[in-house]
Amino acid sequence: MTSDLPATERARASLELLYSISRELTSELDLNELLQRILKLTSEKVAAISGSIIVLDENGHLTEGAVFYDGKVIDHTTEKLEDPFDRGLAGWVFENRKPAFVSSTLDDERWLQQSADEADEGSRSAISVPLLLRERVVGVLTMVHSQTSYFSEDDLTLLQAIADQASVAVENARLFTAEQERRRFASTLQEIARTINATLDPTQVFSQILDQLARLITYDSASIFVVEGENLTLVAARGLKDEAAILGMKVPIGLNTLTGAVIKNAEPLCVENVQLDDRWIKWEKHPESETIRSWIGAPLIVRDRAVGVLNVDNNSAGVFGPAEVELVTAFAEQAATAVANTQLFAESQRRVQALSALAHTAQVVTESINIDEVIKRILKRTLSSLDAEAASVALLDETTDTLEFKFVSGKSADHLVGLRLKRGQGIAGWVVENSEPVVIPDVQKDSRFFPKIDEQTGFITNSIVAAPIMAESRTIGVLEAINHRGDTFREEQIELLMGIAYLAGSAIIRARLFSETRSAQMRYASLFEDSIDPLLITDLNGSIKDANRHAERFLGQSRESLRERSVFELGIPYADKVEQELAQLDPGETFSSEPPMPQSEDQSLPIEIHVKRIDIDQQPVFQWILRDVSERIELEQLRSDLTSMIFHDLRAPIGNIISSLEVLETSTVKEDEAFQSVLSIAQRSSRRASRLIESLLDLDRLEAGNAVIDKQKTSITALIKEAVEEVRPMAEAKEHTLEIEPMPELPEVDIDFDLILRVMTNLLENAIKYTRTGGEIRVSAQKAKGVLDVSVRDSGSGIPPADRKRIFEKYARIHRKGKPKGRGLGLAFCRLAVEAHGGRIWVESAEGEGSTFHFTLPL
Ligand code: ADP
Repeated sequence: MTSDLPATERARASLELLYSISRELTSELDLNELLQRILKLTSEKVAAISGSIIVLDENGHLTEGAVFYDGKVIDHTTEKLEDPFDRGLAGWVFENRKPAFVSSTLDDERWLQQSADEADEGSRSAISVPLLLRERVVGVLTMVHSQTSYFSEDDLTLLQAIADQASVAVENARLFTAEQERRRFASTLQEIARTINATLDPTQVFSQILDQLARLITYDSASIFVVEGENLTLVAARGLKDEAAILGMKVPIGLNTLTGAVIKNAEPLCVENVQLDDRWIKWEKHPESETIRSWIGAPLIVRDRAVGVLNVDNNSAGVFGPAEVELVTAFAEQAATAVANTQLFAESQRRVQALSALAHTAQVVTESINIDEVIKRILKRTLSSLDAEAASVALLDETTDTLEFKFVSGKSADHLVGLRLKRGQGIAGWVVENSEPVVIPDVQKDSRFFPKIDEQTGFITNSIVAAPIMAESRTIGVLEAINHRGDTFREEQIELLMGIAYLAGSAIIRARLFSETRSAQMRYASLFEDSIDPLLITDLNGSIKDANRHAERFLGQSRESLRERSVFELGIPYADKVEQELAQLDPGETFSSEPPMPQSEDQSLPIEIHVKRIDIDQQPVFQWILRDVSERIELEQLRSDLTSMIFHDLRAPIGNIISSLEVLETSTVKEDEAFQSVLSIAQRSSRRASRLIESLLDLDRLEAGNAVIDKQKTSITALIKEAVEEVRPMAEAKEHTLEIEPMPELPEVDIDFDLILRVMTNLLENAIKYTRTGGEIRVSAQKAKGVLDVSVRDSGSGIPPADRKRIFEKYARIHRKGKPKGRGLGLAFCRLAVEAHGGRIWVESAEGEGSTFHFTLPL
């Protein structure tokens, strides 16, 4: 037909045509629409009476097609086009990837010859071209005419040109459709996800999943099973004759079924024809099981465990491929989320219940310190929260090592109270022994069960859940819930019971602590009240919080009027001194303020104040002891007056005795040994008495802080020798060895000779006195770091560490059985005398190995 037109005209027409085709085709993204347009356009241009176009995917599979016939386009004709594609002209073009020119369909082998009855009278000649895109055939375009040799070479060229344009448009549209398909899939999944989030009823979600799935996959029936214990339960189904009858059907997982295999392997399974698979089971309730062929089962996986299966069935064999498996798997994932959500929900529901039960119990525990009351309420709570027939608390009695049922609530409660189990006996005993909770669904089958109790109470125990009651990481008892009212106790109820047991433990601890504190408080209160000293309790600012009976009397005010008053306003002497000290005191520390020696004009009461900081609940509290020491001071004054009087009055007569003895010594016959010996005893004794008096007088003087006045340059070696000779007779009387260690040349010291001589003789006399007969006493002196160090070592009994400082105090004596008694003045004098010289005195001793007294004198 086109051959009649002049060449240029034709070329122009072709160009125009191509331009319009290009414009038309590129704007269309709907594949069906596009195919129709291509067919229409081409058949018009080449004046064909019919034509067809097919679209092929990457694998050469026919995916879409359209036929133009009798002036009309019939789309979605894939099925009709399958034969010509498989065996006819289009197939040839696809295989050979080149155009075909058929001048007569009757004698061309490439033309699919129809059978006689459906002989296609209208088709005599044809041209067919491949739609090529990057070396790949994406489709085939065919034009047909009723006359033989109708098409020219030009028509073929035109067709080819159209095909080139069309191939891009077709591929674009195909990709677009695939993309749309993906989007549809995605939005479907999204919709399901929304449903899952909006509802916690899994059946609703499952139904929705099956409905949505139908939009994307052709199935005859579909179903969802979920794992419940040992079984798979059918929870949702579509396409079954009698859904109501079959829902809830249970299939043991252990059975060798296809669904079971999906669960066990947690992998999807696709079967071409289940009728040929011996794992396919035909159920009476499920008549479809006779007709189903193709089958997909995809697992519902929650935390790596298959919790169900999504099944999709088709009555034709082999209709499902990898794409469908992928799709069903994606839906199964959604279904799994629904299962997980409901599991989580159920779990959180249980948790909420458990928590509120615990919160209630905790409230009871903190509100009351009456232990009986608390435990009773805990048991009530246990009964209701665990849905038990009875609940009990047995506590461990450590003295008898038995468990006693102290509190019981519910059935047979009265019979059980007071019964005892040995440690390790029965389930309660086991729990105490192992400090572990247990849940026992069938007690009668458990070897730990101790049936005697049931025999005694007449109660029949079926199931038990028990938890140890702990106090400060020791097990002190057991909390048991007995016989679940419904079915049996569940594993997760242990957690709840443990929570309650924990609270019971803390209640018991609290109650014990409370009673301990209360008795401690009572003890303290009576100590406080009955103290012989006036006691006050104040805060940091000195505001009085409490006062004892004695304080009331002492301060002449009632307790009530003292409260909240400041301790500093009471006119307690020296209290102002304490005021500055309060803030500096550390917890547990005591500040003492001793009264100065009362002067005659001072009329105020001498009071010793001791303030101790005690922190209660991290708040500083101060305990004041106000001790009236006026009597003690008076006594001390009296004694001091008395002693100085005695000493003064003794000093003169003894001085007289000494000088009289001296006169006697010079005027008597030296040969009279007996007389001489008596005389020397009298002389020594009177000198000792005089020394003692001098020391006592000195003691007073030194104590008053008077300086040493009578200092002179003295050789310490000479002094030591004189002192040793002085005491030698005493040492000999006790058969001691008394020696002066070899001494180096020593410098002279500036000292009061008399005082230090008395220090020396005192130390030597002590050494002699406190060392058993036949001991050893050594004196030595040496120079050391700007001082002279003199020491007296004995082999006596030694001095215990605690006394080593104390013996240098006035009137300090260590009382030991069988030891000589002293007055405890010697060492006090020594210390004062040495210190008055700017020296130091101390003792080194190992008990039982003697003592070494050292004193130093500055050089
Ligand atoms: P007195 O000897 O008169 O009791 P002192 O002040 O001299 O008083 O001594 C105080 C106490 O020290 C004595 O009672 C005695 O227990 C102890 N003491 C002193 N010297 C020694 C010593 N050399 N060995 C053991 N104990 C000693």
